[in-house]
Amino acid sequence: MRTFPIFVSFDGRPPLVVGGGELAAIKTRLLLKRAPVVEVAAMELVPELAKLAEAGQVARLTPQPGIDQVRGRPLVIAATEDDAEDTRVSAMARALGVPVNVPDRPELCTFVLPAIVDRGEVTVAIGTATAAPVLAQRLRAWLERELHPRLDALAKLAGEFRGRVAERVPSGPPRRRFWEAVFEGAAAEAMLEGDEPKARALIDEAIEKATGEGASQGRVLLVGAGPGDPELLTMKAVRALKSADVIFYDRLVGDGVLDHARREAELVPVGKAKGAHSVPQSEINALLVARAKAGQTVVRLKGGDPFIFGRGGEELDALRAEGIAIEIVPGVTAGIAAAASLQIPLTHRDVSHSVTFVSGHEASGQEPGFEYLDLAALAAGKNTLIVYMGVTTASAVAQKLLEAGFRTGLPVLAVENASRDTERRVATTIAALAAHPESLGLKSPAVLIFGEVAGLPASGVVEDILASEEVKRAYG
Ligand code: SAH
Repeated sequence: MRTFPIFVSFDGRPPLVVGGGELAAIKTRLLLKRAPVVEVAAMELVPELAKLAEAGQVARLTPQPGIDQVRGRPLVIAATEDDAEDTRVSAMARALGVPVNVPDRPELCTFVLPAIVDRGEVTVAIGTATAAPVLAQRLRAWLERELHPRLDALAKLAGEFRGRVAERVPSGPPRRRFWEAVFEGAAAEAMLEGDEPKARALIDEAIEKATGEGASQGRVLLVGAGPGDPELLTMKAVRALKSADVIFYDRLVGDGVLDHARREAELVPVGKAKGAHSVPQSEINALLVARAKAGQTVVRLKGGDPFIFGRGGEELDALRAEGIAIEIVPGVTAGIAAAASLQIPLTHRDVSHSVTFVSGHEASGQEPGFEYLDLAALAAGKNTLIVYMGVTTASAVAQKLLEAGFRTGLPVLAVENASRDTERRVATTIAALAAHPESLGLKSPAVLIFGEVAGLPASGVVEDILASEEVKRAYG
């Protein structure tokens, strides 16, 4: 059964449980967590139900309820444990359009009961349709441990302040930001620790601050999305995505990363495929500035790390010039992710003492001259060179390095789509790459790692990925 989660109100008519046995008692107890009264239609009541009836929480109806007892109910649970009677009640409820559940009989149900974590004002309902109730129960146990027992008190306190905040703090992004700061900050912490006076004082203070000067301006977070695998996002990046009103993202941002955005957030793609149309950098800068000035929390989401070939510096300059609040959230850059996937250390005692990140493209789209690099020193020293944006220029880059004195047998590893499902790894040597431009068969995005450390992966890894027989011999 495919289902959609909702929370049902019991204001109006009480829910109906048909049956008076143990199973009916379990379901009644569950409904009483929210319903002031549950009506139970049964000939006899087990002691638990009888006690609830005495206490006024259960109202007794005659057994075998008819149309008049079922019509207009928020929901009905048929738990008579008598197959014919449960089937009858289910058919009647469905005919009347009343949601009905029969425990362990999915074919007779129009709704399922979720596993529930109850923190008073805060309720978490876990559904796995009917496929995996055990999984739902395990999740529930985990959430029970994770969700603070005083969460209810915190929610109630927030409820108390709600009116005042609505009066003082403008609606939309400023107000959402206000509440985020309360729930993530010292006020919530104080409340959960049981220090209510401190929590109240902190919220008062936050209200003053939110209505003070400059409070209406938003901010921009430059966030590294990592190489693609959402698990390589930092916790800060996830928090930034959840707080964003608008997210301007690059093409290289992996699927699954944007799933962390709020449902209401505006998602705006801004390029950048090499050679393909994309929003010009100056326009991106202007968009970031305008949205922050309008009071929004703006996330500029970039593949890898924002400050490695990400033009993060230019955006930073533009934002600083306008006096906009900025936060930087670093990300796992592609070269680091590639090394992790290949299990090669980028620095290694005796083998490599430094790492150099370079671009395989000039800004003009040409292959690089590397005039700014002391290639001879890199060739002589123990260095690892990681080339970004080098797919189309890989062979020319290898040629240039050979001319500068890199040894011909130097191992080279390339990783395409590092950390994604489509990841591909190829091994070659610098001489083979210079001689056979197509030998790696690479597609963008990919990084190339030149250096002795590229000869270090576990032998099984290299065997599988050697570009050619010739390279295999050279790898030795
Ligand atoms: N800021 C990014 C780099 C942007 S430049 C970072 O820190 O990773 C774009 C280049 O990054 C691509 O041409 C490619 O060389 C590299 N790249 C980005 N994602 C990659 C991935 N998943 N696998 C391999 N290379 C990647």
